[in-house]
Amino acid sequence: MNDSSVAKKQLVALKRKLDSAIESRSSLEDDFNLQSNLLIQFIGKLTLISKGIDLELDNRLAQLRSLFTKSAPISDIENKIAVITKLLQQHSITNEKNITHMHEQFNQAGGNLQKINGLPDNLRRDLRGLLTETKESKDALIQYIPLLSKLLVFYDLALKAKNGLPKQGILQAPSVISANNDLPIRGNLVTFDSTILEKISVSLSALPLSKAHTNDLLAIKKQLMSDKSSDEVLNHLIDIFDVIVADFKDEQSSAKNFLTSLSATLTTVQSAVKETIVTQVKSQKTNEKINQKLQGQLIDMTGTVEKALSLNQVKEDINEKLQFIAHTLEQKSTFELQSHQRLADKLNDMSAKVQRLEDQSKIFEQKLADQQRKSMQDALTKLANRAAFDDYFAKAMVRFHHKPFQLALIVIDIDDFKKINDTYGHTAGDKTLQVIANTVVKSVSKGVFVGRYGGEEFVLIYSKTQEQALIEELNTLNKYVARLPFKFKSNKVSITLSIGATHIKADDNIHIAFERADQAMYTAKKQGKNQVVYVK
Ligand code: GH3
Ligand code: MG
Ligand code: MG
Repeated sequence: MNDSSVAKKQLVALKRKLDSAIESRSSLEDDFNLQSNLLIQFIGKLTLISKGIDLELDNRLAQLRSLFTKSAPISDIENKIAVITKLLQQHSITNEKNITHMHEQFNQAGGNLQKINGLPDNLRRDLRGLLTETKESKDALIQYIPLLSKLLVFYDLALKAKNGLPKQGILQAPSVISANNDLPIRGNLVTFDSTILEKISVSLSALPLSKAHTNDLLAIKKQLMSDKSSDEVLNHLIDIFDVIVADFKDEQSSAKNFLTSLSATLTTVQSAVKETIVTQVKSQKTNEKINQKLQGQLIDMTGTVEKALSLNQVKEDINEKLQFIAHTLEQKSTFELQSHQRLADKLNDMSAKVQRLEDQSKIFEQKLADQQRKSMQDALTKLANRAAFDDYFAKAMVRFHHKPFQLALIVIDIDDFKKINDTYGHTAGDKTLQVIANTVVKSVSKGVFVGRYGGEEFVLIYSKTQEQALIEELNTLNKYVARLPFKFKSNKVSITLSIGATHIKADDNIHIAFERADQAMYTAKKQGKNQVVYVK
């Protein structure tokens, strides 16, 4: 074999090797391209998922993608990946924080919804289930999305329930609001301060309206105390205003009726009297005419006798004249009878009208007396009210200073009454006040003045009971009330009193005496409530 043929052979072998190297490089390149495409696609998807979470991460991922597309040196790609890894680590920390925050917010929002009064039972149950499910913190924020959407549905249902039951006041949650120290505003619902509503409620109890209107007022008052959102409260206030105006109108029209009928009767009486006088004058004139006629006839008769020539003629003439006279007398008596009858008719008519007027004025007097009584009575408990107490106590003090006697003043305050309202509602509170008022009236001795001083405070005035007997009676009352079996929403509740008592002293005035009894009551509170404190 010559050199050239050897070289040729080697060249062919080399070419084959080169071809195979080129082929395997191209297959490597294909693989690389395939993989980097996959990687670019992956980074593209990652970019889409993380888009918006962090601008910097967005940018870095875009840069990484472009490095891959440009087939940049591996060292550049490594650097970029290191930066992105760091960013992702920071994200993982932020994510943890976000999950904790979301968990707290979710539970707080759910808890707030739970505290809202008047939620439908099934909604309350489902909400409880959801909150139990979310008791443990989730691993990823994304897991909160279905839970949040459920919570939103519950809020929506609560809103709808509120719209369906406008008098139930579902979105009023003043305790929640004040606990958060928020403004009393939720969405576009403004809630009313309950102390203002209570003041309105107490003032309403003192309004002396007719029975029907008082009942209307009590019904609205009940709703007023259970609804606290602005719309509902405003509507109730308008209703209250309407009832007061209606009562005022009734009162006005009944007074107007009375005055109209009084004036009509007076007019009738006046015209009847006038007519009677006219009639009398007329009948006097007619009578005078008849009398004159009679007199004329009698004179005529006398003349006849004087002028007569024979007895027979006298007889005849007199007979004739007597017939005239008899006729005139008959006329006179008919006339008198008629005018008497007319007078009697007029008098009867008049007295019937006066009688009607008297009946009406009696009704009016009764009404006035009722109003007077009501203005001294508390509408809810039917006890004497604050005005009646002031009046009674002032008079008792005057008598006491005139001639001292065992005059004692007692102030009673129900313990923790606000809790009853807050836990069982204002209606339960109202019922409790009525029961306690009745119990106090029944428990104390006869002749003891019992009044509602205001809110959940009562006052007693004893006029002939010594210190020891008084303390005993008050202790009995206290124990009796504490044992009353109150039951609200199937919970047995006992209600207690704090009682302050004192006897009036020579140098007391109304204010000093009241202050002492009130202080005694506060001492009872400070000493643990449910007790009687007597101060000399
Ligand atoms: P304490 O033992 O210190 O007396 O506490 P308390 O809760 O009884 O006293 P507080 O003065 O804090 O609350 C009295 C409550 O009485 C406030 C008000 O809600 C309630 N109240 C006052 N008038 C009425 C009423 O006519 N009806 C009802 N239901 N509640 C009333
Ligand atoms: Mg009080
Ligand atoms: Mg009280």
